[in-house]
Amino acid sequence: MAGIYIHIPFCKQKCHYCNFFSLASNKYRDEFVKALLQEMEMKSDYLKGEEVRTVYIGGGTPSMLEVSDIHLISEKLNTLFSISKDAEITLEANPDDISKVYLKALKSTFVNRLSIGIQSFFADDLHYLHRVHDEVQSRKAIEEARDAGFDKFTIDLIYGIPTLTNEKWLKNLEYFFATGINHLSAYALTVEPRTSLSHLISKGRMPAVDEMQSAQHFEMLIEKMEEKGFIHYEISNFARPGHYSKHNSIYWLGGNYLGLGPSAHSYNGVSRQWNVSNLAKYIQNAALEGSVAEKEVLTMEQLYNEYVMTSLRTSWGCDLEHIRNGFGLFFLEHCIKESNRFIELQELRLDNNRLYLTNKGKLFADGIASAMFMDS
Ligand code: SF4
Repeated sequence: MAGIYIHIPFCKQKCHYCNFFSLASNKYRDEFVKALLQEMEMKSDYLKGEEVRTVYIGGGTPSMLEVSDIHLISEKLNTLFSISKDAEITLEANPDDISKVYLKALKSTFVNRLSIGIQSFFADDLHYLHRVHDEVQSRKAIEEARDAGFDKFTIDLIYGIPTLTNEKWLKNLEYFFATGINHLSAYALTVEPRTSLSHLISKGRMPAVDEMQSAQHFEMLIEKMEEKGFIHYEISNFARPGHYSKHNSIYWLGGNYLGLGPSAHSYNGVSRQWNVSNLAKYIQNAALEGSVAEKEVLTMEQLYNEYVMTSLRTSWGCDLEHIRNGFGLFFLEHCIKESNRFIELQELRLDNNRLYLTNKGKLFADGIASAMFMDS
């Protein structure tokens, strides 16, 4: 089980909350694509001949690529890697890029799943977030993608936006249900340091995020999604049976993945490495090991901590048998001891030798996981 992630580092403008690596221009698109193809050559052995089940083109804004770039990427991937015939190939697209002409051309590439960054169906929320698209484009994007022949989708929504009342959040979910899409990623708005949003809030030019409101939106989300038959299979992801994101499941189930493009991360079960977050350096060094900024061989403690963090966030839960077999008795005893208080608080439940977050525990997922960590 292996996947490839490709990071496209261009956006039309920076959203206020964004801390991903991307530049508000695609001036160096040609040079970037050339470097990306070189990096693929250089890292063609990374997955050691494993079958690649998923390719995820994310960013940044991949829909700022020309369709001819996507053809080049797919040709090179197919030459260098063993991409399975039924691979899930996702491309992230923003509503403002989704024209009928673009979508029709995109349909001729290997992309078979779209992830559309809707975020909200309301103008004031999109304005707060400083998104390029408007509410009309939010509503039209899915329809046009479907008309172009795409049948596999996910959309992103953001909750906890100060302009997003409970009533509007329910409306956003209703719009989502009306589309008939089988997968939703919903994220709490977080104010990351050194973002425009953090600056604007600190200067009093934007209202601050209310954690209580955000938690309320999360509870409403879980309730509505369950009501409609969606499975909450990861803390930020919901799908109808058979529609889980195969690519993200590779991350959550500990599979190997190769990350290409600036700032992309890779993992092969033993070590983790990540590329430079600098487009000029990336372009200069993509054909060399120099595209890799850092590499670390993971200790047993780090591997255990990552397993606890990711597994608890999923509906598969944290498997105590896996901890015993993969990490040993010392780790198992630590995990049981630390989890007991959360079981008493009804934030975790133990079922069939697996630990699961309860709906109450999902509100504190990161805190619970880190309390169960091993010092590393
Ligand atoms: S479109 Fe996505 S990657 Fe680009 S600035 Fe906005 S949030 Fe960041």
